[in-house]
Amino acid sequence: MHELGVVFHIIKKVDKIASENKVEHVNSVTLEIGEVSMIVPSYFEDCWKWAVDNRSERMKGCKLIINIIKGVTKCENCNAEYSTVEHGKICPHCGSDKTFLIRGNEVMIKEIEVF
Ligand SMILES: [Zn+2]
Repeated sequence: MHELGVVFHIIKKVDKIASENKVEHVNSVTLEIGEVSMIVPSYFEDCWKWAVDNRSERMKGCKLIINIIKGVTKCENCNAEYSTVEHGKICPHCGSDKTFLIRGNEVMIKEIEVF
């Protein structure tokens, strides 16, 4: 139930921002979700629909827009950057495993739209 936890966390955050800005209703939220964040977008959306209607008056019916951020890994050996999903931990350019993820495991609020 990883997704549900993340959904609650995001809703809490958006709700707090909305309350600080005296917003009565949040229309939609745009999230950036990394390809390798372990979040399943379709499951995330199901959790979202349920949670906005049950957890926050201010966010009832709030739409969710998901932007997927590509996973990128950097190789320490040859400095190349490559697609994490395609090649995993081994650098496709030099075969080194001294690599680290530079992008793609984040879940970030990008935009909050209100009436
Ligand atoms: Zn390399």
